Amino acid sequence: MFEEESDSVPVAPQFAEEGFTPFPTHVVEEYRRRGLWGGRSLPAELADAAHDHAHRVALITPEVRLTYRELFDMATQFGSGLRAGTELRVGDAVMFQMGNVAETVVAYLGCLVAGVRPVCTLPQHGEREVTLLADHVGAKALFIQADFGRGEALAIARSLLDRGAVGTVVVARGEPAPGTVSFEEIMRIGGAAPAPDAVDPHQIAVFQLSGGTTGLPKVAPRLHEEYVYNSKAWATALGWSPETALLYPLPLLHNAGIALALQPALLSGASIILAPNARIDLLLDLIESERPTTLPLVPPALAIRLLEEPRSRTADLSSIRDFIVGGQRLPVEIAERLRDELGISVRQMFGMAEGMFLITPDHGSEALRFHTVGHPISPADEIRILEVGGTSEVPCGEVGEFCARGPYTIRGYYRAAQHNTDAFTEDGFYRTGDLARVQEVDGMTVYSIEGRIKDVINRGAEKIHAEEVEELILRHPDVTNAALVAMPDDVLGERACVYLILEENASELTVRALGEFLLGQGLAKYKLPERVETLDQFPLSNVGKVSKKALREHISNALLAERENRDSSAVGAR
Ligand code: AMP
Repeated sequence: MFEEESDSVPVAPQFAEEGFTPFPTHVVEEYRRRGLWGGRSLPAELADAAHDHAHRVALITPEVRLTYRELFDMATQFGSGLRAGTELRVGDAVMFQMGNVAETVVAYLGCLVAGVRPVCTLPQHGEREVTLLADHVGAKALFIQADFGRGEALAIARSLLDRGAVGTVVVARGEPAPGTVSFEEIMRIGGAAPAPDAVDPHQIAVFQLSGGTTGLPKVAPRLHEEYVYNSKAWATALGWSPETALLYPLPLLHNAGIALALQPALLSGASIILAPNARIDLLLDLIESERPTTLPLVPPALAIRLLEEPRSRTADLSSIRDFIVGGQRLPVEIAERLRDELGISVRQMFGMAEGMFLITPDHGSEALRFHTVGHPISPADEIRILEVGGTSEVPCGEVGEFCARGPYTIRGYYRAAQHNTDAFTEDGFYRTGDLARVQEVDGMTVYSIEGRIKDVINRGAEKIHAEEVEELILRHPDVTNAALVAMPDDVLGERACVYLILEENASELTVRALGEFLLGQGLAKYKLPERVETLDQFPLSNVGKVSKKALREHISNALLAERENRDSSAVGAR
């Protein structure tokens, strides 16, 4: 069942660091004994890949095309430049505000080579988040892409420098401001490469951010050894080879970009085509010109945009052999429309910054690929479906909280002792907050995601599970997509408001008409949406998921404005 066992890997002691929850020693020994953890760092593994695939294409962007040798040489030069030309030392953390450009890949890999820890913040993060996260991890530097968006990153960098929140700012793709240093300057300083083996494989390699929907994201510390394994296990599960070319349009510096795309691609000799954004016309251009074989992560919201773009019907999509949907619940209608309208056969995955990836088999039945997220990618992954808030497992087939433990799932968030007591069970299972069910389909044990524990609207203590209602609304012939969110209510606390995207030429759906339809579907009256808002597109989070946070804010602001209008006309009428 397990990969070939190996006695050759020395059992090194685990490192200890304040604020880091280690894997128990006997578990580490077990992972190494089974050959899952290989005792090597990310830069050492990447250097091997650069050697083995030196002349193959590693990275394609609309601007550049780099071979493995070229990319790794640039990363090494950048890494040595960091060590020679800045205050950064092994173990220091660096914040990122960079998008999907080649400089980001070079800087990320350069950090790994230098033993510096990238913190995968996004250029979309605001000053407040960047400052608080920099403080949380004790970051020493900030790397920015000056030409991203409207150039806000430069202002954030100045403010962090002025406040002494970071000591170094590296500016890519723009003029360095006073007190900052340019990407080119770091490259110029770079000299002799630090030997990749100089980086301790038992240390934290990268900080990823949790996908939590409220408050400040939590920080997931990823170790070299387990992150290498995570990336290789994903590439193996997908059968990636030097013949694979994957297209990635979501922000690279997120766990999905790093562990579902960049690292597994580079560790298997594949090429990665990095789209600077997820505009459908650009993606279609890249699909037709670069002929990717794999799309490793398409959130359903992006799949809907693909379906709605008329050019998708005439574009040549024939190179795509693996179209993987994940990050969010997949409405079955979308999977069917992709099949019927574009001839694309999809399969689902499930993943998270804390670790644990699941995938459905590529030639599995639709029952498997459309309705489940499959099974974990490692034989040593463990899943328990626990009673919500409890520690007992629910009976097979019943819905409970999806809890995960394994060779690439963290044992605790970084510097979050208090939060960790709730987020992890005593025996180290991460409580994902996702509702799931285990079942047998086609003779396989697989999991389906049934909603989020917190995606619940509390209407005067009556709970409304958003996904249950959305599922029924999607059966309405005029509805393309639906997102149910809580709107504040003085009496009941919360009521349900639904945001809809309607089919072309469909007329507005009223609260009443939608209610009648849902009652006809057997939905309880208290679960009916009490307000309908129609949009052309849903706001997306930084990583391409429908942002319910933005929708909740939208409806709260609308209600507030309506109340103020009412109040002022009441005053005027007196
Ligand atoms: P992140 O840490 O940003 O990658 O987000 C992880 C979360 O995304 C999970 O805990 C789930 O709530 C959600 N998620 C990921 N994949 C799926 C999927 N296939 N179906 C439903 N939810 C998903």
